[in-house]
Amino acid sequence: NAFAEIDLGEALNLNIRRCKYVKPTPVQRHAIPISIAGRDLMACAQTGSGKTAAFCFPIISGIMRGHFQPRPRGVRTVFPLALVLSPTRELSMQIHDEARKFSYQTGVRVVVAYGGAPINQQLRELEKGVDILVATPGRLVDLLERAKVSLQMIRYLALDEADRMLDMGFEPQIRKIVEQMDMPPRGERQTMLFSATFPKEIQRLASDFLSNYIFLTV
Ligand code: AMP
Repeated sequence: NAFAEIDLGEALNLNIRRCKYVKPTPVQRHAIPISIAGRDLMACAQTGSGKTAAFCFPIISGIMRGHFQPRPRGVRTVFPLALVLSPTRELSMQIHDEARKFSYQTGVRVVVAYGGAPINQQLRELEKGVDILVATPGRLVDLLERAKVSLQMIRYLALDEADRMLDMGFEPQIRKIVEQMDMPPRGERQTMLFSATFPKEIQRLASDFLSNYIFLTV
């Protein structure tokens, strides 16, 4: 019942201690082992439940341990290994801040891209390389259309506050984004969907995007 008991990799376990996280929250206690085991997950999670760490820890840990195909270099397109989609600029910035603390000295690089801000600074950060991309759907579609980002190598997808993204009308963008991940050569992808509510639309997204998933309510 402590993070120290879950082997997430030395560097990440150290960062968790630095953040003074000792005991997992309920969503973390259940979601992290499920994700580490490689299963897809749909989880009920409110703001303040600790959901950010629940999806960040398995992603960072997986990237630290993973053996991934070398990603193309020297082109102006970047190939993140993980994508976190979030509805708003504020939430994206928050996730980015947390994910950076968790990935400190792990070699895992996190970049954020959101709308309503100039794209150039974000492009410069992307061009330095990205393992985990945190993005709002509209800005990501823009980056995909400019061929600045490719989703061909994505191995981890997290949808945060999925119900809010649908309320904001992002379903077409989300579907477009996931379609690009499904194009060949499609590798193994692990998907985590977090939502506070589970209307029909969310259940449909889950059945379209997740495979053989575990539904977690805490
Ligand atoms: P979230 O629901 O991810 O927005 O997290 C809510 C707040 O709780 C954030 O300030 C986190 O840094 C903090 N937090 C998340 N998990 C833990 C934990 N296991 N122990 C202590 N604080 C935590």
